[in-house]
Formats: sequence, structure tokens, C-alpha cells
Amino acid sequence: MYNSTKDKKGDRLLWGDEVECMVVEVDEDARTAKLSLRQAQILEDLEKAERAGELRDDNVSFHPEYGRYMLESTPSKPFSGEFEDLLQVEPNMALRRRIARRHMNENEIPLTLTSYPMLGAGEFCDPYTGTGTNNPASRSFFLPDEIINPHARFPTLTANIRWRRGEKVAINVPIYKDERTPDPFVDPTVPWNRDIFPEDANAREGAALRDHVYMDSMGFGMGCCCLQLTFQATDIDEARNLYDQLAPLTPIFLALTAASPAYRGYLSDQDARWNVIAGSVDDRTRTERGVDPAPPDWATHTHNSSPVIPKSRYDSIDCYISDTNACLAASPAHYNDQTLVVNNKVKDRLLEAGFDDLLATHFAHLFIRDPIVVFQELLEQDDAVDSDHFENIQSTNWQTMRFKPPPPGEESRIGWRVEFRPMEIQLTDFENAAFSIFIVLVTRVILSYNLNFYIPISRVDENMRQAHSRDAVNQSRFWFRTNIFPDDGKTAVGTYKQLTVNEIINGCSSAGFIGLVPLVRKYLHSMNVDLETLCQLDRYLQLVSKRASGELCTTATWIRNFVRAHSDYERDSRITQSINYDLIQTVNKITKGHGWDDPEVAASLLRGCKDFA
Ligand code: GLU
Ligand code: MG
Repeated sequence: MYNSTKDKKGDRLLWGDEVECMVVEVDEDARTAKLSLRQAQILEDLEKAERAGELRDDNVSFHPEYGRYMLESTPSKPFSGEFEDLLQVEPNMALRRRIARRHMNENEIPLTLTSYPMLGAGEFCDPYTGTGTNNPASRSFFLPDEIINPHARFPTLTANIRWRRGEKVAINVPIYKDERTPDPFVDPTVPWNRDIFPEDANAREGAALRDHVYMDSMGFGMGCCCLQLTFQATDIDEARNLYDQLAPLTPIFLALTAASPAYRGYLSDQDARWNVIAGSVDDRTRTERGVDPAPPDWATHTHNSSPVIPKSRYDSIDCYISDTNACLAASPAHYNDQTLVVNNKVKDRLLEAGFDDLLATHFAHLFIRDPIVVFQELLEQDDAVDSDHFENIQSTNWQTMRFKPPPPGEESRIGWRVEFRPMEIQLTDFENAAFSIFIVLVTRVILSYNLNFYIPISRVDENMRQAHSRDAVNQSRFWFRTNIFPDDGKTAVGTYKQLTVNEIINGCSSAGFIGLVPLVRKYLHSMNVDLETLCQLDRYLQLVSKRASGELCTTATWIRNFVRAHSDYERDSRITQSINYDLIQTVNKITKGHGWDDPEVAASLLRGCKDFA
């Protein structure tokens, strides 16, 4: 397949976003908010409307997701790179939300929340079947299996990840230590000493940590929502370059979009979902995680180049892949500075088929994972025309960037694509449009000015860890390359500095870095964009710029502040049903555009958006 598509050229920029959301059911009399598990019925209704031609002119499409309370929406046809087309993004996202809402019950609302604060705490969903011994897929103490999309793929993924790993997944996020949070914090909701599932009673055996919020199921991660973007490149070389150039930006945009400060009814001491999902699908065995030593005959059990695999299958990327970039070509080991585990058998086969070493390495690295779920009926495939087996591995390597070959078939008009995957979903369509449009413009800037953001992968990893910390935008520094222009010595090793997000986004003259927003503005001015469009686009740039400068706060900070300011909050890190209810109602208002100029409600998040609109 690679050989039949590698020379495909001349595809134009097309792109699309994926917005994931949660369906929340609100009872105003009882003052409760719960996740509604009606995904299947809502999607069925939407399909009916689609079949009846009701959505024909709407350019919207809806898809299932892992959580039975989740919906994903995309434009049905991709956007182009035309500047006027960029202005269609926000209305399109708003339309998707309206249409989804129309197919929900009166008391249900689609909310773009990254992590649901009460997921796994009390009766957080409807229907709620309770936990206990009836969770065959996850064996979770906290999350009923009923929150999993019932399509066979999802419970099977859940069970097989646990089975392959040899024990339940274990995610521990540090608790936010507020004035009255017990110290040490020993979570009373963890069944420390009870045999709920005798075969893996691992809370007692050290899986749950003190001073942490412990989570034990895939749903805690894959039940989070995000904002993803996929771009079509003109050809494979451009796709490989874009993949590389966007990779160092992934931690920066995780920090800037951070929106998940609460898990399982507690405020945590981190703001972003990424490592929670990484832990929630970590199917590595104890040996692969380096906990147990490898048996002497390990090499007879695997084609992998090492018995230890440093990262989960949901994690940041491990190697750059461009073979046309002089900078990477001049010092490959400097940038790709991690020892990469590869599937040797796959790598040999790819090299034999004509892949260059970098690309063979990239794909052979994906193939160090097992497929986890294969349907018997789909086992026999003609691999020359069907990419199912490849896609199975590819789509369960959930990394910060994804490199996507054209789907097979002569008729395929789809080209080489890259997906940008780190961003957390924002509360409003305005914000989600802003981050989407900004990244699209950054890709144009990268290609037009031939920019180089390369830093060693180990520093991207370090940035990734930083990006999770509380208020990383204002409190953390990130490794960033400051000599990004070709004349700055493209072939030389870069100058890396630890910059704040503000310096990276808005520029820093002492570091000699122009900043991403000024770069985008410069680009727009050079493109003769008409004034009206320019003004419209600038609203989005301003949001990104002000988030970075701290003038506006991240969604995570806003949620944390909301909880801490609530009259029912006892400064013990606990989020009660009533706090959650008020949070959900306020989020709903903000989502609808109410209170964007109300200092009490959302000034910190969106100040000025109304003026721009
Ligand atoms: N919901 C996942 C996340 O928050 C992504 C799942 C997907 O790849 O669609 O990253
Ligand atoms: Mg998705």
C-alpha cells in the first residue's frame, strides 16, 4: 500500500476537527447533574434524521465514543485552508451542538468538558447500577461497566487491556492539598482492605497511593474528551515534516488548553488529562514496564528489540520522521535521542519493501504493541487492498501526533495526513474554534517560512510532564527552540531555552523569539487577507494570546476556582453533588454565551469575546 501511495502528490490542504462531548442530565428540582447513558438512542435519532435528509445541508456528522455518555462530532466534509472557510468553523461547531441538543431529552445537555469531576463518585450517571462484583470488563471499584459503549469493541478493549497487563490499570493523580485536606490523604472511598475482586484486590497491594486520587479503569481516561485536528498535506514529505514540526508544540498546547483539574470527586494537583488516559490504557506487562526482570529467554517470545517498553500506547511520540529536513538529517541522533523499541520483524519487512530507515522505524515502533481486539470475522484480510490490520494497530497507538497514510483504493482521493491530538476540549465553541484555527494557521506559517521547531525528543518528553502541572501556563517553563528560521542555521544544532508559554506564544525579545501569535499575524498580513476577515480571525488570535499571557485563565483554573469559591466547599479537596450541579449549570450558561461579560461568571475565561464578536 505504501508503494502505491508514496508518490501521491498535489493534494491540497483540507482539514477537520473532532469535538468530543458529554451528555449531562440535569434535574433542577433535585439539584442533581448526572451523565446520561443514552448515547445509543441519541445517535440512532441523529442517524434517522440523517437518513431522512434533514441534515443534508448542515455539514455535520456524529460518532460514538468510548463512554456511553459521550458523543463525537465532526464536519462531514473537511474545511479548506481558505481564510473565509476558517470563519465557518465556529458556526459549524455551534450547529453541531444545536443539532445534538435537538436530539436529546429536554433535561439533557451536550457539554464540552474534558474530565467529568464526579466520574466514579457516588451516583454520577443515569441509570446507575452501582459498583460491586458486577463489572466483568473493568473490575473497577468505582465505575460500573455500564458507562462503557456497549459495542463489543469497547468492553473487549477494556477487558483485554487489563488481561494483557496482568492486573487492573492503576492511575494515581496527586490530590490537591487544600487547607483542610487530610495530611496524609488516605482516600476513604478506596476499598483498601476489602476483597471485592479477590483475583485482583490490588488497591490493598499497593496500586492505590496515599495522597493521590486512585483510578482503576479504562473509563477514567478514555471517558475524557478532547479536541483533535487532522490536516491533509500536499504529499508524504510535507506530511512527515508537519508531523515533526507540530510534535514539539504538543505539550505547549496541552498546557494552554488544560481543562481537567478534577477526578472522581476530588480536586487534583494537575490540570490536564493526558497521563490519566495514558495510565488507563496501559496494557504493558510487569516486565514491559520494567517492574519485573525479563526472563532469560524473553527474545523467543517477542520480535521487539527490548523486553522493556518505556511508554504506554497512549503517550507522546518517540521519534521524528522527516527525511527531507536538513536540520534533522544533519544531526539525527541529537533529535531522535531516545533508544527506540521496534518490532524487528516488521522493520525488516518494511525495509525490504523499500521504506527508508526513519519511516520503517516509525511504523515498526507502532508494531511493538499487540492488536488488543480483533474480530474473528475480520481476521482474514487481503493486506494488499485492506488496511484493517494496520489500522487496528495504528488507531490504538494513541499518541500526541498521528501520521496517517492514504486509505487504500484507487478511488481514494484522500492524501497523506497528520493528526494533532493533545488539546483538551474547551467549554465554548468560540474557544474550540480559536484553538483549531490557530493550529491551522500555525501549519501554514511552518510551511510558508520553512520553520524548524526541532528539539531533542527527550526535551519534548520533559515538557509533556511539565504541561500537566497545576497552572503550567503561568508557573512552568518549557524547552523551546528559538532559532526557528532557515537562516538561523538550519543545519546546526538548535538553541533551546526554557520559556514560559507566554514567551512561546507572544514572543520574548530577550530570548530572541518572535512568538507564535506574532508569526501568524505577520503571515496573515503578508497574505492580503481582507480587513473584515482579518478582524474576525483576530478574535481567535486574541483568545490564544491572552490565555498564554495569563490575562485569561485556562478552563482548568476556572473550574478549580469555581469549586474553591463554592459555599458548600469545605476546603478539603472534595467536590460534592451540589458543587458539581452548580458547576454544570454555570458551564451550560457559559456554553450558551450567557455571562461572557459577567465578571462573576466567566470574565476570567472569555473576557472581551463579546466585544470581538
Ligand atoms: N478521548 C481521547 C482523548 O481525550 C481521544 C480518543 C480518540 O482518539 O478519539 O484524548
Ligand atoms: Mg474521538
